[in-house]
Order: sequence, then structure tokens, then C-alpha cells
Amino acid sequence: MIQVILNKDKFKYDIHSLVKAFYPKEDVSVLTAKEAKDKEQEYIFKIEINLEEEKGLISMKIIHGDGSKVSASTECSDGETESSGSTNGSAASLSTPKNALKQMMYRELSKEIGHDLPWGSLTGIRPTRIPMQMLEAGKEEKEIKAYMQDTFFVSDEKTDLAYDIALREKKILDDINYENGYSIYLGIPFCPTTCLYCSFTSFPIVTWKKKVDSYIDCLLKEIDYVADAFKGKVVNSVYIGGGTPTTLEPEQMTRLITYLREKIDISECREFTVESGRPDSITREKLHAMRECGVDRISVNPQTMSDETLKRIGRQHTVGQFVDAYNMAREEGFDNINMDIILGLPGETEEDVKHTMHEIEKLGPDDLTVHSLSVKRGSRLAEHIRNNGFFVAGDTGRMMKIAKEGASKMGLTPYYLYRQKNISGNLENTGYAREGKAGIYNILMMEEVQSIVALGAGTVTKRVYGDGRIERCDNVKDVTLYMNSIDDMIDRKRRLFS
Ligand code: SF4
Repeated sequence: MIQVILNKDKFKYDIHSLVKAFYPKEDVSVLTAKEAKDKEQEYIFKIEINLEEEKGLISMKIIHGDGSKVSASTECSDGETESSGSTNGSAASLSTPKNALKQMMYRELSKEIGHDLPWGSLTGIRPTRIPMQMLEAGKEEKEIKAYMQDTFFVSDEKTDLAYDIALREKKILDDINYENGYSIYLGIPFCPTTCLYCSFTSFPIVTWKKKVDSYIDCLLKEIDYVADAFKGKVVNSVYIGGGTPTTLEPEQMTRLITYLREKIDISECREFTVESGRPDSITREKLHAMRECGVDRISVNPQTMSDETLKRIGRQHTVGQFVDAYNMAREEGFDNINMDIILGLPGETEEDVKHTMHEIEKLGPDDLTVHSLSVKRGSRLAEHIRNNGFFVAGDTGRMMKIAKEGASKMGLTPYYLYRQKNISGNLENTGYAREGKAGIYNILMMEEVQSIVALGAGTVTKRVYGDGRIERCDNVKDVTLYMNSIDDMIDRKRRLFS
């Protein structure tokens, strides 16, 4: 445990994220001095932070286990805290109390661990958002990159990556009438089995088989609401995710999509994706049904091309099954297939990643999403790690480079990226695609430029207002509760969009 004690109840989330980025394997507790008085905590070392922004001063002290101390202080503006997400790149924002605090902490903690972090002190904000906003404000490349490096200490490599992706996203978005449109997400929360690292809404299909039709009835009810509430608006993209949507039988998939198409005009929809993630859920009949219904993008996910790892992470399918499913999808006419892989899986080495990229190259996907493993609280993986220790056998940073080179060799360029909490190596997830095959829903969703209406258990609907403000409402995760309270789920959306 690393304990951080603050003199004021401020910036707790930012401090927690930053310390965690430096010490991903440790628990981090951020408390006010008052809160700490009532809590006995054992810690490896303690950080004391004194915020005196009214005097333009912030100071910190690192107190090591052996009693030795390191002190630092910095000046800051006494102005109101600026959200790190809303930057126009002006020099003044460098010295806001939050930025000044994070910069000071970053400098001291990187000295403690002896190296920098690839994304510097950037936490709690999507990395592409900064270059995107600055591009829109008419800033030049040089100024944008300098801002990312001077304010957040982002490495050259990651600065270039974020800037290049922002340029690519902007080009794609400029071509879509997204401001007057919206996108639809439908969640199918069932999976063949539960993967070790899963923290999504997922329930084993064997247990739910008999209730899937009733679940679809509820989705149809939600579709009725959308058809009515969004009449006259353009649908830019539809995404059926999960879970594993291909746990639905072909007739169920057809029923769902046909109803959607009957009720909502999707003639201007730029992309219709169905995540078909688990190869053990894919059959020719399902692929055929999806094609017949107009699905034009699917995702078939190997995660790794090592049978041994697949077994270890509870995927219960083999590499051979994945290759068969992929080839079948090509035979059925899918010309936009995404693959997901995960770096940092338990026991995997850099050699495993090289092997995975080599095998994937033979198949030639149109889109490849490279995830860094994120250990989410409550996942079976988190429990597994607690019981067995953390065992990533390789360096995730180097694995990321291998994946990047492999993607480039396949003619794929990065087009979107996002970071998650507790992500392996403090890295990122990156989507690569061939020219013209970038996942439009992914960009619209990540850049938060339009409303996304989400249907199904455990999904989150997002309303994006014209001024960029965002409000959300969620559907409950529990499938039975979702079905029993479907009218309430719809009412929540009605209130959000009223
Ligand atoms: S396929 Fe995805 S949603 Fe299903 S259990 Fe695995 S990680 Fe979770």
C-alpha cells in the first residue's frame, strides 16, 4: 500500500491515477489528513501533499519506509482548476493547481522509480482529445506536440501516435454528418464461457438459453422507443456488442436485425458491426444470417495465437477454431473483419506476441485492435493474480512495439486509441485499419462527438449536447432485472433525451 495524505479534499482521483500509473501492482490510498486519523493503514511509503494554491504554492514530501524523506515544491496559479480535458493549449493552463501538482508529482515519482512513463502524467483523459481539440482550434503540429510534452511529459513516440491518430480521426469525421446523427448500440450479454480477464456484462449462454427470446423481446421494445424518439434523425452506425452477440441463434439474430431495419431507417448508416468475438460461437448459418441482414463489419477475436494461453485464460476455443471461423467469414463475403488481440496475457512472452502477429499476418485482417491487458477490479483475473501473483512474463512496452510493427507490415495504420485504468505497462489500446476500413462506431464513441443510444442489459446511453456537454443513463446489468424493469429502462432514456 502507498498512502497519500492531503491537507485538502481535492484532486484525489487525479493523484490516485497518477500514483497507480507509477506503481500498478500496489494498492494506493489517497486520504485527507482528517480521514487518515481514523484509519490505521500499513504502507510501504507515504506521500504528504500540501495544497496552498491561494498562496500560489504546492509542496510534497515522500517519506520512505526507512524514514528518509524527499521534499519538493512548485508554484501554481491561484486561479480556478481547469479540467485537463478542456485545453486550448494556452501557456496559462500549464500552471493551474492541478497541472502544477501533477507535474511536480510526476517529476518526483519518476525519479523514485528511475524512468519515465510513456504517457507521462496524462491520466483521466483520452490522449487523442488534446490534439483533436487543438487541431479544431487551428493550432499547428509543433504547438500541439510541444503542449503535450511540456504539460504532460508525454514521450515523443506517444505524442506522435496521438497526433497522427487525431489527424486521421478528424479526416474520417469530416466526412460524416455526425452532428445531426446518432448511433445505436445493442448489447447481448451472453457468452459461451467467461474469460479469465472479463469484467463486461457477460453471462453463460447455457444458463440463459431459454430466456434469450424474452431478452430479444425487450430489445425490440427499446427499438420501438428509439424509432419514435429519434424519428427523422440519421443513424450513422449500428454496433451489436456484448458479451458475444453470436451466441444468438441465426433466427434470433435475423429477428432482431430485421425488426431494427423495419422500425428505423438505417439507409444512411455508414457501418453495421456485429462483434462475433468468440470463434466457438460462430457457425456458417450465423454468418450467413448476418450477411443477409446487411451486417458489413464483424470482429472475430483470437486474443492470442497460442493454444496454451487460450486455455489459461478460459477462452475454451483453439487457434484452429479461430482460423476456421475467420476463413468461413471470408467465404460468406465479409470484407471488413476486425481481430482483437491482448498484450500482457498471463504467461505470455514477447516471442508469443511475435508468433501471434506472424500467424495473423497470414490471414490479413482489415482491422486489428491491440489491447494492453487491463486488470479490472472484480474480474476473475484480479482474483487469479491475488492468488497466484502477477505473472506477465514479458515487457508489455516491447510487446506493443512488436504489434505496431506487425500491423504496419500488414498495411494497417492506427486510427483510434484509448486507455483504461490499471492497463498493463501503463500503455494504451490501439485500433489499426486498412485504408477505408476504420471502425466508424469506434471513433464516434471514443471522440464523444454524438449521442449513442444503447439498448440491452448493462449498456450505457450517452447524450452529447451541441456544446459538448455529456449526460449518461445506464440500463441495469442484471438480465432478469433488466427484463422485469424494461419500461423503467426506456423511461430513463426518455428523460435523458427529453
Ligand atoms: S468473450 Fe468478452 S464478454 Fe465474453 S467472457 Fe470473454 S471477455 Fe467477457
